[in-house]
Amino acid sequence: MSVKSYSLKKDGNKKLSPHFQVREFRCKDGTDKILIESELISVLEQVFDHFDCSKINIVSGYRTAKHDKRVGGKGRGNHVQGKAADFIAYDKNGNKIKSRYIVLYLEDIGVKGIGYRSGGNEYSTHIDVNYRLKKWYGDEKKSMSASIGKSFYGYLGIKYASYMTIANLNIRTKPGLSGKKVDTVRIATMLKVAVNDLKIEADGHIWYKVKYNGRHYYAASGYLKEAGK
Ligand SMILES: [Zn+2]
Repeated sequence: MSVKSYSLKKDGNKKLSPHFQVREFRCKDGTDKILIESELISVLEQVFDHFDCSKINIVSGYRTAKHDKRVGGKGRGNHVQGKAADFIAYDKNGNKIKSRYIVLYLEDIGVKGIGYRSGGNEYSTHIDVNYRLKKWYGDEKKSMSASIGKSFYGYLGIKYASYMTIANLNIRTKPGLSGKKVDTVRIATMLKVAVNDLKIEADGHIWYKVKYNGRHYYAASGYLKEAGK
């Protein structure tokens, strides 16, 4: 983890990773200097991979203190330090992915600074990777600093239903056959499925998010049947 300083003029077209260029993180006031924390790019690439994105738009990356104040900030904080980004992710069909699904995933992978935005602009998500600070999960529509509590699963009213495996079933770290296999559960095992979370299509399967050993993983829906149905 490290914050690097770039020049829009000199490094603007430089690739930071397979899907991101330096210029995407520039301050909207046109300042040449751009600060970017490498960990931020790593998290964004994980989102890109996980949701099989066609693109991710950086709505706001680095901000000078002056610009930060102009957009309602205090002129310090994570955007000013190059440690935060607000972004909108698009699925493989070019549709915007709702922030509620993104924040649940970010929580799953242990990102400490996550800003959801309820109501109107429900597609933009804030992340920051300032690991010296404590965990912060917020709803920026309501407050830029108040916490929503321990978990977005509770805040967003995610519900679980009991499903039974109808064959031996692989539990994976991500939706898709490339997800690392965590375990194989036997036929006729009961699992909790997050029923109102995003169902992701990948590799010819629809993937459900399942709770397994207290954590969230993925399983192909075709091997699961809702209990009692
Ligand atoms: Zn932000």
